Amino acid sequence: MSIQKQMKTLEYDVLVVGAGIAGGESALNLADLGYKVLLLEKELSIGGKMILLSKVFPTLDCAACITTPKVSEIARHPNITIFTGAEPQKILKKGSHRFEAVVLQKPRYVHVADCTGCQLCEEACPVSVTDEYQYGLVGRKAAYIPFSIASPRAAAIDIDNCTLCGACERACPTKCIDFTQTPEEFLVKIKSVVIATGFELFDPLKIPRYGYGKYKNVITSMQMERELAPTRPFNTVLRPGDGKMPDNIAYVLCTGSRDKSVGNPICSQICCMYSIKQAQLLMGALPMADITIYYLHIRAFGKGFNEFYVQAQDMGVEFIKGKVGKITGKENGNLVVRYEDIKAGTVKEAEHDMVVLSVGVLPNQGISGVFENEELQLDPFHFVNQVDLMASPAKTSIEGVFVAGTASGPMDIPDSILSGGAASAETTSYLRKESL
Ligand SMILES: Cc1cc2nc3c(=O)[nH]c(=O)nc-3n(C[C@H](O)[C@H](O)[C@H](O)COP(=O)(O)OP(=O)(O)OC[C@H]3O[C@@H](n4cnc5c(N)ncnc54)[C@H](O)[C@@H]3O)c2cc1C
Ligand code: SF4
Ligand code: SF4
Repeated sequence: MSIQKQMKTLEYDVLVVGAGIAGGESALNLADLGYKVLLLEKELSIGGKMILLSKVFPTLDCAACITTPKVSEIARHPNITIFTGAEPQKILKKGSHRFEAVVLQKPRYVHVADCTGCQLCEEACPVSVTDEYQYGLVGRKAAYIPFSIASPRAAAIDIDNCTLCGACERACPTKCIDFTQTPEEFLVKIKSVVIATGFELFDPLKIPRYGYGKYKNVITSMQMERELAPTRPFNTVLRPGDGKMPDNIAYVLCTGSRDKSVGNPICSQICCMYSIKQAQLLMGALPMADITIYYLHIRAFGKGFNEFYVQAQDMGVEFIKGKVGKITGKENGNLVVRYEDIKAGTVKEAEHDMVVLSVGVLPNQGISGVFENEELQLDPFHFVNQVDLMASPAKTSIEGVFVAGTASGPMDIPDSILSGGAASAETTSYLRKESL
């Protein structure tokens, strides 16, 4: 069986799928050892979710300050080729140390090398749509730079919403906008594959009683993350319903985690800690605000995590062991949280002016269907199965295919980086066996 058609053929040592922190770490390690790496990212920028975060628990280091130097090292490395807007369509195992992949690259309608990032196209474009990189909190233009620290920092045209008015083309000083671009397919020959496709966030619309989508002041933790980030949409923390600065914010932990009724029985491992982090950041941003965290159990299991939890308590964050049943909106935009106070054994209500749903981590399942002639096994929760978890954690069911980061299960950034390192070490040892 061959998948060779009339396509441009490219050859690398390793294909890394997904350019979040885990895939980026794997790609850098392999490239430093002299291997030629093709790094695929389906979004317009590399950096994954981490590049969009505010600060990181438990150190409160700035996420962008850690991510941007790594991202620029990846972007400049002579042994790494990056395709953004690109995904593998199929991957075929052709023999030991031999894979073929068909990669689809979507058109950006901008020649990246010539784009200066001046944003004149954005200013000229008359079309406004919701900004997915700000998680729907604000709008963007149909001609747009994904976000200010994107890599590459180049414009793209959102062709689905573009009216083809030509205003961006006329405004562009380097004439790099090109509406003739079409999707391109490449045949990529590689010796090994690293899967670093990351995770999806739980969609809170699946729990209608929490009022997400109905009440504008119920937001997700990722939206709050954007409000707190240096590249934030507003200059401070605002509630989306009316632009008021909130002074009484509630968190609902385990939204879509440890909940069989929504099909996700497992702990997401990061939500307790990122909520505690956000609570501390909010106390700095809004010193007069009250913060309440409704939790079932606080899982502060990592290095420095329990101290971080105690620090939040000492700062005045209120922790209520309570199961939230329902959130209802009031005319003034405030929200009434009805919950079971587990310690008191009673049902209570409390009013807050903003509610943050600490949404859980879900598997990104699409990648398993890409493998054509061998099965990429998934675990019972649909993450990529680690077939030899104790001895060889990056190994998958296909020899020569390794997994890195949250593609194999929920984990935080330090563990994703460690896992990216493990995947590159196991890939190296596999590649070295070829020459023996
Ligand atoms: C609200 C929130 C706050 C957080 N705060 C913290 C914190 O303070 N500290 C901490 O340690 N952790 C935090 N985390 C967790 C952190 O985001 C993850 O640990 C980390 O992003 C995992 O990295 P990853 O590379 O595995 O996955 P991702 O960041 O998901 O990256 C995967 C990449 O693969 C790409 N991709 C997916 N499928 C394909 C495909 N088929 N082809 C090509 N590309 C593909 C995606 O577009 C993405 O760029 C937080 C998470 C959330 C949701
Ligand atoms: S051609 Fe499309 S992207 Fe360019 S300005 Fe007009 S609507 Fe915006
Ligand atoms: S596409 Fe042109 S106008 Fe837009 S940012 Fe790039 S160089 Fe500037």
